[in-house]
Amino acid sequence: RLYLDHNATTPLRPEARAAMLAALDVTGSASSVHAEGRAARRIVEEAREKVASLVGAAAKAVVFVSGATEANATALTPHWRRGPADRPLEHCLVSAVEHASVLAGGRFAPDRVEMLPVDGAGRADLPAWSARMADLRQANERPLVSLMLANNETGVLQPVAALAEAVQAAGGVLHADAAQAAGKIAISMATLRADLLTLSGHKLGGPFGSGALVLASEALHLAEPLIAGGGQERGARAGTENLPAIAGFGAAAEAAARDLAAEAVRQRALQGRLEAGLGRIAPDVVVFGQGAERLPNTICFAVPGIPAETTLMALDLQGVAVSSGSACSSGKVRASHVLKAMAVVPDLASGAIRVSLGRSTAAEDVERFLAVFHRVHRTIYEKRRMRAA
Ligand code: PMP
Repeated sequence: RLYLDHNATTPLRPEARAAMLAALDVTGSASSVHAEGRAARRIVEEAREKVASLVGAAAKAVVFVSGATEANATALTPHWRRGPADRPLEHCLVSAVEHASVLAGGRFAPDRVEMLPVDGAGRADLPAWSARMADLRQANERPLVSLMLANNETGVLQPVAALAEAVQAAGGVLHADAAQAAGKIAISMATLRADLLTLSGHKLGGPFGSGALVLASEALHLAEPLIAGGGQERGARAGTENLPAIAGFGAAAEAAARDLAAEAVRQRALQGRLEAGLGRIAPDVVVFGQGAERLPNTICFAVPGIPAETTLMALDLQGVAVSSGSACSSGKVRASHVLKAMAVVPDLASGAIRVSLGRSTAAEDVERFLAVFHRVHRTIYEKRRMRAA
């Protein structure tokens, strides 16, 4: 099998597996004061340092949660406060290309969630965003603004830092979903200038069910946590810490930070090679988001007239796993809201295939993918011609 769906999930790193196995044998709860509890606490705090270090944050800024979906649900709330007198945030502004877990709007009332446009390359349309924030500032209504760092379908990167000033001026809070960006491109909380950052463990070689919400400033706090109870994670997320998941996430974050620079260069070259190959096989291929800065591992493309399911199933039969549209939906192929927001015509969008590379992807894998795709493409075209004749 050739697995080219690393944006859906990427294999567990050996470092993460080892850390998880060790954590499974720890008896204590991280909240207990006895030696067993302190051993558990040490594992949690070491992992916290490693996750923080991946994004240039202070360890105490990291809140462990069950994954990016929970981090997004926690972040999207009117209940962020900077000072004791702060009122709840009134509006939630999200980009039209966000992950479903952001589009859901968290704890904002549905009529308070607004989708803002992107351009044809999939980037936030900054003048439109700034105009909306200026309106809110005039009305003295504060927004929570959520813009993802990298899109899961196209890999397109967003100008998150460029929004920071306008969000601040409106007294708002800026959130960035970095589930796809973390471990693939360098992230620094300081240059990103987001107040809140979402991370997912299983997207960077950690286990499923691990993730974090990173807070840029101690002044910002959650007046009402999403999950209340025993006050763990400094009151931001209750529940006895999931030791193996946290340990695995920490080890994966450390390994990802170590590999990041070299992997980005290596995968960028493979991305170029794959796209050039697609162009030779199907000269009419369209690569989405090509006009924008993108992740080094993601290629989202369509060949006009060929539905994604046809290609996807043919590739699967040949041992190649890729994705169509958004894999997070029920395995059913629906037109992607991301491509729709980029004004891609429905016919072309319904052919969108996402290939996402990972640590284990070698140059030979790209050649093998191209050879299989070439065969599949030829067969589909021949069948069409025979049917038409
Ligand atoms: N945000 C983005 C951009 C994603 O790609 C995903 C996973 N498809 C999520 C959030 C949800 O992540 P998790 O599986 O950790 O809940």
